[in-house]
Amino acid sequence: MCEMEKSTIAIHGGRPKKVTGAPLNYPVGVSSTYVAGGSAVYSRFETDATRALEEVIAELEGGDTLSFASGLAAVKAVVDTYAKAIGRGLDVAIVEGAYNGTRMQLNGSKGFAVRSITKVPASTPDLFCESLGKLGDVDMVWLETPTNPLMSVLPIAKVSAIAKQKGALLVVDNTFATPIATNPIEFGADVVIHSATKYFGGHSDVLGGTATFANPSLAKEADLYRRLNGAILGDFEAFLILRGIRTLPIRYRAACENAAVLVELLKEYLDQTSIYHPSLLVGTDGYEFLPQQMLLYGSMLSFDLGPSPFIAERFCERLRLAINSTSLGAVETQVERREKQELGISPGLIRVSVGIEAQRDLVEDFGQALERL
Ligand code: PLP
Repeated sequence: MCEMEKSTIAIHGGRPKKVTGAPLNYPVGVSSTYVAGGSAVYSRFETDATRALEEVIAELEGGDTLSFASGLAAVKAVVDTYAKAIGRGLDVAIVEGAYNGTRMQLNGSKGFAVRSITKVPASTPDLFCESLGKLGDVDMVWLETPTNPLMSVLPIAKVSAIAKQKGALLVVDNTFATPIATNPIEFGADVVIHSATKYFGGHSDVLGGTATFANPSLAKEADLYRRLNGAILGDFEAFLILRGIRTLPIRYRAACENAAVLVELLKEYLDQTSIYHPSLLVGTDGYEFLPQQMLLYGSMLSFDLGPSPFIAERFCERLRLAINSTSLGAVETQVERREKQELGISPGLIRVSVGIEAQRDLVEDFGQALERL
């Protein structure tokens, strides 16, 4: 049989064996331990629900997958496991515009799993690759693409080649793109991280994370780390996230279509240079790799309403549908003012995680708020 499409894998992966009387979904486990002698031992190691979820993500991303209690628990597991594997604290090069929590966690690990952290500027792919290339040897390159919140897209294949020259492990946080748009391992990444809290769960009702490893022996080490640190995803959470995965392809596509429509609407009111979405980079110098790397351009976008935080805040208040809240990847559209002075991000920057509401209603909502600027 030919390889299945991702929308089919998302629906049929991780199901119990199709035999007479079998349930279609694994029941949510409520037992911490099991009678000795069988394959199930103890819920801190794995359960039917976590294994089922991991099977599907493994198929979608193309590697060995482990699930964790949150995205940041997955980040910590990867960093600590790799530091242990090479026997010292890591010198990490991290993309400017990586998730704040990841940067704070790496900083908090200084002196233990992390020896040094170098931020690499990411306003263009060329600048990122040149700056990374000029660094001395590092142990780990931490990439997020698109970046947050300026949606810069970085070339995973080229970054992987540079990381290999340095002998570094390339970790890609693929939360924004999801495996529906991008498979980092295909482009040379060693590890792929997801905050499953976002698009995988998709309904703002669960926390979780995953790490997918190209190298099975590193996955094994991370599994041991997870067992010993009690970092595994809970059973009910695994059930919710797997339920979310069933509709991930269709939700992500619909959200991307809505984002494209909102970008067009924003162009009617704002200068294009103050709107940020991967689609706007297509065809520009240095982004030749983009259509091949991103099969869809994502549902995260941002736009800059200028130096006043009050105008941006008032804009968010005027939205009737979009919810002012600090997460992303859900069925409902979410907006948030992002201000990062150190990255030159103006106080009027609004990040939008576009949901899957009816296009007409979203256009009406953003249209009336833009009209009153
Ligand atoms: N990676 C990205 C890109 C995120 O946006 C987040 C959370 O916002 C995380 C990782 C951390 O995930 P979690 O909140 O599930 O720990």
